Amino acid sequence: MKDQRIVIPRSLQNQVLKLAHDPHLGMSSMKRRLRLKVWWTRMDQMVEDFVHSCSECILVSEPNTAPITRSIMPDGPWKKIAIDYTEVVSGQHLLVVTDYFSRYVETILIQSMTAKNTVMKLREVFARFGYPHQIVCDNGQPFSSEEFSLFCKSNGINLNHTVPYAPFQNGLVERQNRTLLKTIRISVSMGRDWKTDLLDYLHAYRSTPHAVTNYTPSELMFGWNIRDRIPGTTRNVDIEKAIDNDKLAKEKGRKYADTKRRATSCNIDVGDLVLVKNVIRKNKLTPTFNTQEHEVIKREGTRLHLKNLETGVLSNRHVNHAKKTACRNPLKTQGSISEDKSNFGIPYLDSFQNNNNGTYIHNNVFIFTDEGKNEDALSVTPKRVNEESFPENRRQKRRPAYLADYQLNQIELINNK
Ligand SMILES: [Zn+2]
Repeated sequence: MKDQRIVIPRSLQNQVLKLAHDPHLGMSSMKRRLRLKVWWTRMDQMVEDFVHSCSECILVSEPNTAPITRSIMPDGPWKKIAIDYTEVVSGQHLLVVTDYFSRYVETILIQSMTAKNTVMKLREVFARFGYPHQIVCDNGQPFSSEEFSLFCKSNGINLNHTVPYAPFQNGLVERQNRTLLKTIRISVSMGRDWKTDLLDYLHAYRSTPHAVTNYTPSELMFGWNIRDRIPGTTRNVDIEKAIDNDKLAKEKGRKYADTKRRATSCNIDVGDLVLVKNVIRKNKLTPTFNTQEHEVIKREGTRLHLKNLETGVLSNRHVNHAKKTACRNPLKTQGSISEDKSNFGIPYLDSFQNNNNGTYIHNNVFIFTDEGKNEDALSVTPKRVNEESFPENRRQKRRPAYLADYQLNQIELINNK
């Protein structure tokens, strides 16, 4: 006993943790529940590790918040542009074209969002400003069509699709669309002609210094500011200064956003097994993550290339939409559990559950028999962790000297799992 609390030996700690976690109690409740009755060294840490690795809790856990990665400003106008569709009035869409360097915006009203129409309208824009080097767009139908891809390829334009379901990745376009929609909404609600108001907005926007670059979009796009109703003189445009301003503002914004979002670096790596976020939620009870496991086959910054272990389907997801369940490499297991196995004995014995679809959910310690590096992920079978795996556990167990005065009661633990 320790202060009226029962000291739990290593061999029973995992079972006590399981009892305390039932029915998926949170970390603090679990700690309070345990502290009331039992004690062992590093109990709190083990509670944290236990909850972090409970596969069922992972399903409904909060998504990751990886630090923001800001795009680097191109070194000149119309080199990298973003295109996007936004619905303005029912059935009518605006094709919004934004230049990453100058923040210059073009909007084109489109009745039908087909690939053919999109290409036609972009031809008009490119006839004015020339072909950009790079286009960033989402995975919407017109942009992922063969026709659009061919159009870009034949004109030497690099086509970059954003990660599906991660519009926050393209903040420039998101903000632009929000402001445009605000203008149009006000106009419609006041019973005015929204197309005229939109043109007035664009005129004002293009001739107003941008909050980030400190230059007007037309200054950076054409080298001079377009004339509006406020009298003024022309000034010289310093491109280097604009780039510096952009860098400083982005860094400041990144720091602020990361602190506010409590962003933490994400340790998802190639070979890890992850669950993918249910981006379309049927109702409030839909778990945050889908039960199907995916293997990370490549990571590019915040973009994960995934392979569905059940269907073999390949997909791309933002790192914030994935939650790690296990490492493929047994030496890289999650948390400190495996690293500390010599300290705790083997804390988690019944850690593997077959989830009825041929794959394994690994509650706590993840160890695979990794016979060949190129083997199909499905054929990887988890090896049950047992005391034979670690020779040091064959030693005869003796009560440590400091426990000599304690009365160790035999308690019967009911395993609910
Ligand atoms: Zn749980």
